[in-house]
Amino acid sequence: MKSRIVSRSVLYLNLVQAAKSFQTLGRRLIGFAKRFPLAIFYGALVVLVLLLYQGARQTVSIYLDGAELWRVDTFSRTVEELLEEKGIQLHPRDRVIPERDTVLGEYTRIDLHKAYEVAVIDGNRLSLIVTPTARVTDLLAEEGFALGPHDRVEPADLVETYDGAVIRVVRVDKRYTSSCSELPYEEVVRRNPALDRGFSRVVTAGRPGLEEQLIEITTENGAEVKREVVSTTLLEKPQSKIVELGDNTSLEREGRVLEFEQAFIVTMTAYCPGTPGSGCPLDKNGHSLCTGRYNNGYTCTGKKAVQGEGTLSSPRMVAVDPKVIPLGSLLYIEPVPGIGKIGFARAEDTGGAIKGHKLDLCYDYHRDVVKFGVRRGIKVYLLKDR
Ligand SMILES: [Zn+2]
Repeated sequence: MKSRIVSRSVLYLNLVQAAKSFQTLGRRLIGFAKRFPLAIFYGALVVLVLLLYQGARQTVSIYLDGAELWRVDTFSRTVEELLEEKGIQLHPRDRVIPERDTVLGEYTRIDLHKAYEVAVIDGNRLSLIVTPTARVTDLLAEEGFALGPHDRVEPADLVETYDGAVIRVVRVDKRYTSSCSELPYEEVVRRNPALDRGFSRVVTAGRPGLEEQLIEITTENGAEVKREVVSTTLLEKPQSKIVELGDNTSLEREGRVLEFEQAFIVTMTAYCPGTPGSGCPLDKNGHSLCTGRYNNGYTCTGKKAVQGEGTLSSPRMVAVDPKVIPLGSLLYIEPVPGIGKIGFARAEDTGGAIKGHKLDLCYDYHRDVVKFGVRRGIKVYLLKDR
């Protein structure tokens, strides 16, 4: 309690002293003013001018492309005035932030962005552009290069342009077309035990399927660069070709079961041995009509050429193409319409005209050859038992 009273008293005393000092200073100043009135006037003027000067002067930082370039004191009112005052000459397309007509006031920072000259090759068109915009994508947008959804910019990741930079806009277009193509069919082969081996038949004809393809064509600056199938639609399924191959190898004739390797359909002709007794016409060289100069009465396998009876013990003799029926083979020949039963036969001879699926049947007499003529569609079995 006691100490507080003391400190209050001290404060009071200090205040009284201060008031007295002000009083003294005031009296002295009034005395001075009375003696020197002009000095007071000029002094006040200087103070006022100083205050005005401090009020009008401003410190501004100038940045060039983001880096502080210059810190300047200025009396300029606007950005433009400051630039003029400091002799900073800019290209009309250099960017100034804030705008040139902005009153400096509270702005103490001016950003300058130098314009660059860049080449933009848009498709097949070249433009030289002066721009203060650094980013490629912004630059294109500002300069009116509208980009389509597939268009490509090279270099795409170039963050900042530079003087002489080349920017390419590749115009990419995609269009679609469709085309149909045939789908090949499969061939399915089945064995048919009811069909003789060597024979085949088409059960179902094959039919190709049909597929529609949607094709995407990509062009760059008008030139095709890619063509690709993007989807396919099956319009028609292919139909398999079904072929049956004969698998039967036995037949029953004349009370016995015969095993055969293969059956053929052949064209048959007939011949005689050309021997004097056969009645075969001879030419002026003595060559027979049926066997030419080979008219000694023997086959090429060295057998005596005889008609035979068509039985197993006395088979008929035939000339064959050995590429189709090996010489020495035993055959069974089905009856020939108008001629009758032929039966068993052995391949013992060849002939100049007997090629492929042809058989030449031997007769003892030329008159039977004439009667036989040419017979087509005769079924022959190549028997396993030779
Ligand atoms: Zn003859």
